[in-house]
Amino acid sequence: MSNLEIKDLKVSVETEDGPKEILKGVTLTIGDGETHAIMGPNGSGKSTLAYSIAGHPKYTITGGSVTLDGEDLLAMTVDERARAGLFLAMQYPVEVPGVSVSNFLRTAKTALDGEAPKLRTWVKDVNGALDAMNLDTSFAQRSVNEGFSGGEKKRHEMAQLDLLDPKVAILDETDSGLDIDALKIVSEGINRFREREHKGVLLITHYTRILRYVQPDYVHVFVDGRVAESGGAELAEELEANGYDRFIKAAV
Ligand code: ADP
Ligand code: MG
Ligand code: MG
Repeated sequence: MSNLEIKDLKVSVETEDGPKEILKGVTLTIGDGETHAIMGPNGSGKSTLAYSIAGHPKYTITGGSVTLDGEDLLAMTVDERARAGLFLAMQYPVEVPGVSVSNFLRTAKTALDGEAPKLRTWVKDVNGALDAMNLDTSFAQRSVNEGFSGGEKKRHEMAQLDLLDPKVAILDETDSGLDIDALKIVSEGINRFREREHKGVLLITHYTRILRYVQPDYVHVFVDGRVAESGGAELAEELEANGYDRFIKAAV
């Protein structure tokens, strides 16, 4: 199963002027095996939603609930959420100087499984995952995200997705900054993940172009910390044609 249920989620951040509410009651269910796209303008709270679900300490949950297969994610540590099956590909992946991709992946996998992966198959798996993302095997020896191009960062995240094999993947603007070839490679990675049984995907984007390659089951328009409208793939086409204006006007 991979049922992610977000109910009336309210989140605020601490600012110099006191707490500021960013998420104003988000309700969204990603059913087993479904792919949902969240589309919204800059500053609408998309990354806040992603980070809050993943457990970033900067965000204070002031209301609502998030469960994965009935388990309360919000009560868990970041590590526990990952072990429960949650994966977040961040909009701006962080550099980890001095830690190689190879060590990073192995440490992450070991933490998830509670035991180190068998070396022989693991090396093969890592090389396969890198190769699928068009990354050379020497990439495994580089420091995580240090000096990576925008495209390399995103392809590395998709190699992680492949190897760590979560139940639910939240992909925050995994398409941003990609040229058309990299966009295809990354999209194919997402689609291979979706082809596995019972995988949920929450694809956050503000461009429709990735949705031509990764066809979502549902599209949600996200404006001012809320889901303003939900629909099928046709909603993305409407956004492509008309932009967010109609939804922004309705929100103010
Ligand atoms: P999106 O990903 O949709 O572009 P974000 O979730 O990054 O939106 O940001 C939503 C809003 O929250 C923005 O107005 C942003 O300035 C604000 N915000 C996010 N983090 C902080 C913070 N730490 N302090 C103040 N404002 C913040
Ligand atoms: Mg599916
Ligand atoms: Mg964002």
